[in-house]
Amino acid sequence: MSYPRLEINLRKLKYNAKVEVESLKKIGIDVMGVNKVFDGAPETANAIFEGGIKAVAESRVSNLKKIKDVKCEKALLRSPSLSEIPDVIRYADISLNSEIEVIEALSKEAVKQNKVHKVLLMLDLGDLREGIWFEDTDKIESVLRAILKLPNIEIYGLGTNFNCYGTALPTVKNGNEFVSIARDLEKKLGIKFKYLSGGNCTSYHLVDKGILPKGINHLRIGGLHQFGIEYVEGKYLDEYYHSSMDINKYVSNLYIFKAEIIELNTKPTVPVGELGVDAFLQTKTFVDRGNRKRALLAFGRQDIPYENIHPIDSKIEILGQTSDHTIIDIEDSDNYSLGDIIPFEIDYTALLAACNSPGIEKAFIND
Ligand SMILES: *Cc1c(COP(=O)(O)O)cnc(C)c1O
Repeated sequence: MSYPRLEINLRKLKYNAKVEVESLKKIGIDVMGVNKVFDGAPETANAIFEGGIKAVAESRVSNLKKIKDVKCEKALLRSPSLSEIPDVIRYADISLNSEIEVIEALSKEAVKQNKVHKVLLMLDLGDLREGIWFEDTDKIESVLRAILKLPNIEIYGLGTNFNCYGTALPTVKNGNEFVSIARDLEKKLGIKFKYLSGGNCTSYHLVDKGILPKGINHLRIGGLHQFGIEYVEGKYLDEYYHSSMDINKYVSNLYIFKAEIIELNTKPTVPVGELGVDAFLQTKTFVDRGNRKRALLAFGRQDIPYENIHPIDSKIEILGQTSDHTIIDIEDSDNYSLGDIIPFEIDYTALLAACNSPGIEKAFIND
């Protein structure tokens, strides 16, 4: 077994996906499962597919290629780049879009490959990342009219996203606004959208309170089944809204990050000599706590930022990090030896970093 190592519990992931799909199905909502945090791992995509999620989404086309053998529908969660259209048609059944020029290119390529590609047209209701601005109704209408004329393109639905760049939260107000824009367009164009995709896992609190605007019948969800909680910016979303959320039906602690001790020593707590800045141009201050026992671990900022991990042994304190080492204080904990493994809990940021670090071994467990 090699370290550092990230253990991902597939049984728990599948279980959470199942709970999620079934509880949302009851109120008429289909889930698109977002796999992007795992950097295209087919194991995790397959686990949520087995949990009942029919469509799996990735942000990178290269990751859709990695999950090509999973028997789910595949979606590109980010607008396709003009430079990657052939692979988008090859590896994605669905993509999120907001540029008509891109959709035209998708149509052309879909004709060439003799495929039908589905488009989720994105509107921006205020979060200021992707999507046609919601007040620009003429533009939304003309883009839809243009899409309807394109060969080999099918409209999957209308989508919107919240709580990403702008941290604009999904609310009853902006959800209703989104549905009403969709209904107006349906009337004008004589069509019916299969899906109104109302947001990501941060919309779940509206579901939980029973106030998700009627008409929204699709959510794109990752964090909820990945953590068993609604996790935003290192905080439980629960803290923002209310404390009664029925999150108990989900399991958490799906991940353990493990690193190996490569040096043990007892040293002063304050560096000796004149101090400069570190490799990240930060000046540092140190509190003199005398000599203390410490350990060096074989991972660093290049793998996971230490601010986003928590030692399971609560007596361990993380002292700091360089690009390739992490230093922990073990003065108050049990005896550790050279070669011992230190386990950590991790948050979304750390999971994202770990999955994207080639220096960390990924292990999929099923217990
Ligand atoms: C990342 C993303 C999601 C999923 O977000 P979670 O917080 O993991 O639920 C949904 N939609 C879009 C467009 C995204 O980029």
